[in-house]
Amino acid sequence: MTYDTVVIGGGPAGLSAATLLARARRQVVLVDAGNPRNAPADHVHGFLSRDGASPHELLDSGRREALHYGAEILQSNVTRVDDGFTVHLESGTVLNSRSVLVATGLRDELPDIPGVREHWGSGVLHCPYCHGHEVRDQPIAVVGGSNRPFTVHQASLIRQWSRDVVFFTNGIELTDNERIRLDARSVAIVDVPVARLVANGGVVSGVELVDGTVVPRSVVFVGPTFVPNDELLVRIGCTRLENGWVAADPTGRTSMDGLWAAGNVSDSPAQLINSAAAGSRAAIDINHYLLELDVIEAVGAR
Ligand SMILES: Cc1cc2nc3c(=O)[nH]c(=O)nc-3n(C[C@H](O)[C@H](O)[C@H](O)COP(=O)(O)OP(=O)(O)OC[C@H]3O[C@@H](n4cnc5c(N)ncnc54)[C@H](O)[C@@H]3O)c2cc1C
Repeated sequence: MTYDTVVIGGGPAGLSAATLLARARRQVVLVDAGNPRNAPADHVHGFLSRDGASPHELLDSGRREALHYGAEILQSNVTRVDDGFTVHLESGTVLNSRSVLVATGLRDELPDIPGVREHWGSGVLHCPYCHGHEVRDQPIAVVGGSNRPFTVHQASLIRQWSRDVVFFTNGIELTDNERIRLDARSVAIVDVPVARLVANGGVVSGVELVDGTVVPRSVVFVGPTFVPNDELLVRIGCTRLENGWVAADPTGRTSMDGLWAAGNVSDSPAQLINSAAAGSRAAIDINHYLLELDVIEAVGAR
């Protein structure tokens, strides 16, 4: 059979699109590798009406809703999308479809500091809008070294949630102006490079410097490098922007006819609720695109 839409990726962007298209009585299948970006976190925040839910709980209800309206869901990795469209799954299945939505998210490449990966999503965070409120008034570290603009901004920003913020530059050469601005915000600056994070009973308790000093901290913010999972889009020939990210218009349309992108794969700052909204918007545009094909076919048949 030929599907109306294959949705690749089952995070909030993909699930929201699949549900909307199924409700519009389209034949839709969602293929998901099952590795959502926020899986390491215990709770979701900033998603209206779902505050405090676990990431898995949120996706489980999304999957139930999509299935309820008739979407199919397959667990697999998509390895290739060919023109037309033919979608190849790692499981060996090949799907044919009139349109494709890629909602594969992004990867957070973490700074290579011992302890960061182990505590990612609990004692090591990147987004104060997601988890800042939960760590308010605690002794907070912001560790630089990677993603310079993000971490320098973060050092100033996170001061909103705590009076006790230390910025470990960790190799970043701050300009005089940046030092003045951070100092004015009462952010302490430590220029000695970081050796590792220290934990006590599995909970982050400090930042150890290369000279052996341990600065007690209970939370560490870092600046990952955000890498889009856009290999499928790039391989089929989608145009990229100057910053290297795949170009998509506000409805998620890429430069390839019939191919959409939504969520973090084309929009790195998008949070859960924005990604869900982007999936919904793309789905409506996909439905209008399919409608036009349906009308042309019907006219031809006359
Ligand atoms: C630790 C952490 C905590 C966060 N907490 C919050 C929070 O509290 N509130 C908030 O608003 N935001 C939070 N975020 C951000 C949130 O995770 C993203 O905004 C959201 O996940 C983006 O949704 P998405 O659908 O674009 O991608 P994702 O949720 O990452 O979903 C993409 C899906 O596509 C699948 N996939 C990838 N490639 C393929 C392929 N080739 N074939 C098939 N499937 C594929 C993946 O396995 C994954 O299941 C957090 C992020 C992190 C890192």
